[in-house]
Parts: sequence; C-alpha cells; structure tokens
Amino acid sequence: MIRTNTNYLQLSHRYLFAEIAQQVNAYKAEHPEANIIRLGIGDVTCPLPDAAIKAMHHAVDECADGKTFRGYGPEHGYDFLIDAIMAHDFTPRGIQLDREEVFISDGAKSDTGNIGDILSTDNIVGITDPVYPVYVDTNIMAGRTIKYIPCHADNGFTGDIPTEHLDIIYLCYPNNPTGAVITKEKLAEWVNYALREKALILYDSAYEAFISSDDIPHSIYEIEGAKECAIEFRSFSKTAGFTGVRCGYTIIPKELKGADGTSLNALWNRRQCSKFNGASYISQRGAEAIFTPEGQQQVRATIQHYMKNAQLIRESLAFFGLTVYGGEHSPYIWVSTPDGEDSWHFFHRLLHDANVVVTPGEGFGTHGEGYVRITAFGTWENSLEAMERIKKIL
Ligand SMILES: *Cc1c(COP(=O)(O)O)cnc(C)c1O
Repeated sequence: MIRTNTNYLQLSHRYLFAEIAQQVNAYKAEHPEANIIRLGIGDVTCPLPDAAIKAMHHAVDECADGKTFRGYGPEHGYDFLIDAIMAHDFTPRGIQLDREEVFISDGAKSDTGNIGDILSTDNIVGITDPVYPVYVDTNIMAGRTIKYIPCHADNGFTGDIPTEHLDIIYLCYPNNPTGAVITKEKLAEWVNYALREKALILYDSAYEAFISSDDIPHSIYEIEGAKECAIEFRSFSKTAGFTGVRCGYTIIPKELKGADGTSLNALWNRRQCSKFNGASYISQRGAEAIFTPEGQQQVRATIQHYMKNAQLIRESLAFFGLTVYGGEHSPYIWVSTPDGEDSWHFFHRLLHDANVVVTPGEGFGTHGEGYVRITAFGTWENSLEAMERIKKIL
C-alpha cells in the first residue's frame, strides 16, 4: 500500500504563481493582440554580469581537459567561493566566520525549504504574514504548527514581538513581498526574543544587495547574540541574476545548539553530505567572479537599473494618489489597493483594463489583502508604459 504524506492535502490547492500564470494565459487566449506587461513574478530580467560569464566559460574549458576536469565537489562548497564570501560579505561588517560555517547551496529556496530536515516537527513556527510562500508550504508539508505574525503598516511590516512562545521564527529583510526593511534596533528585539525563548531565527537576506543605507543591517550577525540563535540564508539569484544559474549559501554558526546541546551546524553538514552534492563547479566559479572589482561594479550597475525602475513606480503611484511602501531598499513596491479594493479584484482590473500583471497581496497571506506587489525587475520602458496605463484606469 502506498501511503502518501497527507500533510500535502493541507496545502492551498495551487501555487500562487501558477494561478496567476493560468489567469494571464486565459486572458491572452481571448485577447491574442494584447501587449501584456508583467510586473508580477519576482524574477530578474537583466543578463548575467560579464565577469560571471567569463568565469563560467573558463570553468567549462577547465572541465574539457582531463588535467583540470572537476567531478563531484565538496558538499559544502569550494573554499575559493567560501573565502570570497567571508572576505566581502562578512569580515568588512565585523563578522568573523569559519569556513565550516558557510554552506554553499543551489539557492535559498531549497535551503529555506530543506532546513526543516534537521528540526523536529514538534517546533511551533512563527511566520510573518504576508510572506514568501516557501516557508509556509514547507512547514505544512512537515506537519508543523504555524502561528502567523501579522505585518502591517503600523509595525512597519516587521511584526510585533510575540507575547507567546515560539520555537522557530522566519524573518526576511529586505522583505518579499512588502519591500520593507528592518532597523538594527528592531532586529535586536527579535534576537533578544529568540535568546530569551531559546528559539531559532531563520533569517532570509536574499535581497541584502538592494540595501542602500549603512543604517540598515545586511546580516543578522550584525546584531549581538545572533550567532547563538540565527541561521542566515543568502542567494546570488537577485544579487547577480543567478535565478537560472543557481547558487546561494547558508550560514550556520557553530555556537548554535539545539535544546539537547546538539550542534545545528553538525546536523546540517551531515544532512548536506547525505542529500546534496553541491552547486556545480561552473556556478561556483561564476559566483566567485561576482566578488572581483569588475563583478562588483557590474552587479551595482544592474541593481541601480532595477532601483531606478523602483523609484519610478513608487513615485508615480504615489503621485496618482495610491499609498505605497517599499521600493527603496528592495525591488518590490507594496501598494495599497484604491479604496480598499479586494486584491484579486484589483489584479483582474489591472490585467483586463491595463494589461499589466501584478501580484495580488492576498496570495502572500491573509494580511496581504488590500495590497498588490509590483516588481521593479522589468525594463525601464515597460515600467514607464505600465505607469501610464495604470494612471488611465485609476
Ligand atoms: C527569490 C527569493 C529567494 C532566492 O531563491 P533562490 O532559490 O536562491 O533563487 C529567497 N528568498 C526570497 C524571499 C526570495 O524572494
């Protein structure tokens, strides 16, 4: 008899972006002539940085020669990339890490989704709402109890510190979908809560490269005590256009211990060695090149391009009278629907009357109702054209 994981039956019946794609395709089938502008899905559009392309070409050539060919790599990643990450992303911020604390991965989606492998299903999980759906779905699949932490304009979309006990808390700043950032003071409150409750923070900083102010933390380890209570997930996807290449990394400090004293670092190392064979050598060479001076300059230029779109979208919509959040240290603009219109209703109106695709806030959680998410990952021309069209229907 095949017994399936019945927790899957508790998942919402469809994946949000599949639902949106289906609605857009249905509209396109009826209106084949429509010129649809997609500011919905959170995927990058600019080509890879030249430095990464050159490095990956070179890596392919190395694999074409028996003397430099690479097969299976270390499960935790190559030292050349780990060293570059520590030297550029952590040491300059006063964060000292060991090589064994950095785990190279094929991206933050898999790691934020798989981290539950080393955590008991008895843990009570706190998840901010609205949220990146991966945290919710993977905890439902595991059968864990989820408590939602409402994020709204009044708490700056950073959630109120819970009065109840939680074992695991997911935080993501700069945030997807709200585009919100967290101050060092507020993040310190979360860290102190976790230390007090002996809880674990799973900190997703996939968008840290979009931060343009020194006051905003890039890493949770900028906060004192975080090494005893936090795991951090990072990705080259949004930073460097690696959504198709695949590379990211996860930091698990050695100080981090489970209730029985077990090292989470040791458990994750064991898990990776058994279930993961590493990101490809080619991706890791591409990622390493992001940290060269040329790579850094190219990445900055692409992010500036997206942030110019973000500024245009943010300022245009505010000028049209909508209330907007985010878009300053994040490629996402979180927009209040006009007169409290239902978010799916506004989504349909934008699709049908303006041929612009956005993401209905409700798809990210109950507290996303009343908002839509617009991404700055389009072209300048499309962002401009989308604003013209939205202006007409408001
Ligand atoms: C895009 C995104 C990621 C990155 O996922 P990858 O698997 O590295 O491409 C992680 N977290 C959030 C919140 C994201 O939006």
